[in-house]
Amino acid sequence: MIRHKILVVEDDVNVNNFISSILRANNYEPLTAYSGQQAYGLVTSKCPDVILLDMGLPDMDGMDIIHFVRQWSSVPIIVVSARMKERDKVDALDAGADDYITKPFGPSELLARIRTVLRRSTFASLESPAVNTHYFSCGDFFLDYNKHQARIGNIDIHLTQSEYRIVSLLCRNAGRVLTYDYISRQIWGPLVTEDNQKLRVNMANIRRKIEKNPAVPEYISTEVGVGYIMKESD
Ligand code: CA
Repeated sequence: MIRHKILVVEDDVNVNNFISSILRANNYEPLTAYSGQQAYGLVTSKCPDVILLDMGLPDMDGMDIIHFVRQWSSVPIIVVSARMKERDKVDALDAGADDYITKPFGPSELLARIRTVLRRSTFASLESPAVNTHYFSCGDFFLDYNKHQARIGNIDIHLTQSEYRIVSLLCRNAGRVLTYDYISRQIWGPLVTEDNQKLRVNMANIRRKIEKNPAVPEYISTEVGVGYIMKESD
């Protein structure tokens, strides 16, 4: 049985112990770092499968670690922090963090986040043709990447080209928050205006087309001030 190695970067000893014991009890192998320097050492020597990262460390900012790791590795990074500002969440995600979890949190929430990033990274590393990358489905929603076609149940949904590209980007990253800026740049290029007005208009139209109640979306939800997230495939 594979035991995934999870690096816990957290200077608060009690919190670090708490997280590590949850991990151990659930068949993960925790590696503990109490400073940025220790984290650097373990990231390079032990190649963890997931990094849980506290942003406030005694010797450096968590952002430095994200930048450092992303120079050469796509290992999933989940930011673990107390009361993060929206801007900090956006910066961490844009720098390459995969997800964030806000303290205090319970074991089940933490474990769910870890499973999600592990599933995604395993999926990404499997180039096997047996792995289906031709479509996405979740509840009644179905998206065919080859035919560029969306359906709700048996009903074809007509999406404009921009709408399709936004939806397919979110589907390929289902379960992960994509920031407004990131989505806008992916769809319209780096020169897109910063207010994300275009994206909001498109999203309103997408929701009208795919959601039963666009005001209470079932598939694509909003992380206020941060971005959008597609519900994971079932
Ligand atoms: Ca801290």
